Amino acid sequence: MNGPAPTPQAVDPAPSPRRIPSVERLVGGAPPADLETYGRTAFTDAIRAVVAGLRAGGGPVPDAAAIRAAASARLAAERRPSLRPVLNLTGTVLHTNLGRALLPRSAAEAVAAVMVQASNLEFDLETGARGERDDHVEALICRLTGAEAAVVVNNNAAAVLLVLNALAMRREVVVSRGELVEIGGSFRVPDVMVRAGCRLREVGTTNRTHLRDYAEALGPRTGLVMKVHPSNYAIAGFTAAADPVALHALCRERGVPLADDLGSGSLVDLAAHGLPPEPTVRAALERADVVTFSGDKLLGAVQCGIVAGRRDLIARVRKNPLKRALRVDKMTYAALEAVLRLYLHPERLRAELPTLRLLTRARDAIAAQAERLAPAVAERLPP
Ligand SMILES: *Cc1c(COP(=O)(O)O)cnc(C)c1O
Repeated sequence: MNGPAPTPQAVDPAPSPRRIPSVERLVGGAPPADLETYGRTAFTDAIRAVVAGLRAGGGPVPDAAAIRAAASARLAAERRPSLRPVLNLTGTVLHTNLGRALLPRSAAEAVAAVMVQASNLEFDLETGARGERDDHVEALICRLTGAEAAVVVNNNAAAVLLVLNALAMRREVVVSRGELVEIGGSFRVPDVMVRAGCRLREVGTTNRTHLRDYAEALGPRTGLVMKVHPSNYAIAGFTAAADPVALHALCRERGVPLADDLGSGSLVDLAAHGLPPEPTVRAALERADVVTFSGDKLLGAVQCGIVAGRRDLIARVRKNPLKRALRVDKMTYAALEAVLRLYLHPERLRAELPTLRLLTRARDAIAAQAERLAPAVAERLPP
C-alpha cells in the first residue's frame, strides 16, 4: 500500500508541493551573466547551499528562477568586502568604532604609491647604506614638536608599553592615583605596567596628589615617573595635582626620567582654532623627558603611536627588542609622513587635514548638511 488512492471526485485539491529541481538543472538554466560573473564552480556551490537550506527549512519550495536568484544574491553578498566605507553620521569626528581619523587624499596616494612598488623603507638613497625606517618621519616629528628624537610603533598603547619596558623594567614606576585610568575597554594603566615588567608605585589620592607625594616615593628603585592624560574623564571639585614644572625639576634633580602619556597629543594649539584646549606635544615636552601620543586621534593620520623626547631615552626605546615586535609597516610611514608635511603649512592645515576641518566646521554648515542628508537616510532606515 502506498497511501490512499486519489479521489477523482475531490473538489479544490491542495496544490501538490513543488519538488526541488536537481542542482544540474538549476545550474544549467542559470543566467549566463551570473555564470560569467561568479564562475560555474562558485555558482554551483551557491545553488547547493540554497537547496540545502530549502531542504532543512521544510517550507514551500520557490520556483527555479527564485532559487537561482537566491544563489546570485548569496554570491553578491559574499563579494562585498567585510571592511568597507560607511557614512559616519554620529557627530563624533574621531570615532574608534568607525575607523578614527580620515586621511587626506595626499596621504592615501602616498600609501598607494609605496604599496605597489618597491620603496626605500630601510635604505638610505644618499649613502647607499642600510637605513632606519623611522628616518622617514623622525626629523619632521622633531621639527614639529621640539623633540630631540622619535620612534613610531603600532599604536599609542604600544608606545606606552614600550616606554615602560625600555625605561623601567623590574623597577618602580611612580604614578598619581588620580591617573590610573582605563582608556576604552582593555587598556588600563596598572595592567600595562605589569605586562611591561614594571612595579606600580601609586602616590597621592584619587583627587589630590602633591609634589611631596612624588618626592617621598622617588628612590633607588624608581625607574620612571609617569603622567597620564585623563583623556575621557575629569576629576572636579577639591582637587590638586603637582605643578608640572616643579615635578619635572624634581625628577631631573633625582635623575629619574619623566614620561607623559598624552593620548591624543595635538601638534597645534586647538584653542587658536576655537576648540577646547588640549596639551600640545611641544608644550608637554617642556615639562617631560618623553611623551607618547596617538597617530590617529587629533594628529589626524593613521593608527600608530609616537614616542618623542630626549635623545638618550629614545635611543634606549629604539634598542628595546619589543620595538621590533611593535614596529609599523611602510604604509603607515607613508601616510604619517604625508600628514606631518601638512603641518609645515599651518595656514592651510584647516583646509587640508580632514580631522581639523571636521572638528572646526561651523554649526550652520553641520545643520545644513544634516537637513540635506535626512531624507536619503530616512529612506534607507527602518521606521
Ligand atoms: C587613546 C589613549 C591611549 C591608547 O592609544 P591608542 O592609539 O588607541 O592605542 C593611551 N593613553 C591615553 C591617555 C589615551 O588617551
